[in-house]
Amino acid sequence: MARNARSAAQGCIFCAIAVRQAEASVVHEDETIVVFMDLNPVTPGHLLVVPRKHAVGLEDLDRVTSAHVWSVGHDMAQALRRSRMGCEGINVLLCDGEAAFQTVFHFHLHVIPRYAGDGWTVKAKSLKRERSLLDSDAQAIKDAIASTD
Ligand code: 5GP
Ligand code: ZN
Repeated sequence: MARNARSAAQGCIFCAIAVRQAEASVVHEDETIVVFMDLNPVTPGHLLVVPRKHAVGLEDLDRVTSAHVWSVGHDMAQALRRSRMGCEGINVLLCDGEAAFQTVFHFHLHVIPRYAGDGWTVKAKSLKRERSLLDSDAQAIKDAIASTD
């Protein structure tokens, strides 16, 4: 059995859509990705850019596929801007991990058109973080970058 069909058989809805075993409103596809309408859009036109290959998140998505997903996300944002949808802005969102609101554990990029007064909000309370803590945060990330070189 092909990889997607196996993941679909194991219950991954996005694998099932990728192999057309599940219904979706597809707007664009190629051999690497499929783009379709989110079933429960936060605004009209909300798209998901989904690699055909099953990967859960950034840790297991290969670089070439990842670059293509982001590039197609850019194309989709432009298409939305130029479309009859009449959107006035775009949010691109990736939820990587449960703590980041991921609910479907097959990598996907949200491309969300925005309309003035559309009511979608991201409530965030910014932290006040002193310089020494910002510096130690920066160092922790620099260490991680150095260890993946
Ligand atoms: P997450 O929170 O994982 O980043 O987002 C998952 C998204 O997938 C949600 O916006 C949800 O509405 C969408 N979704 C879940 N199940 C389906 C489905 O069966 N078909 C489509 N088209 N979208 C889905
Ligand atoms: Zn999958």
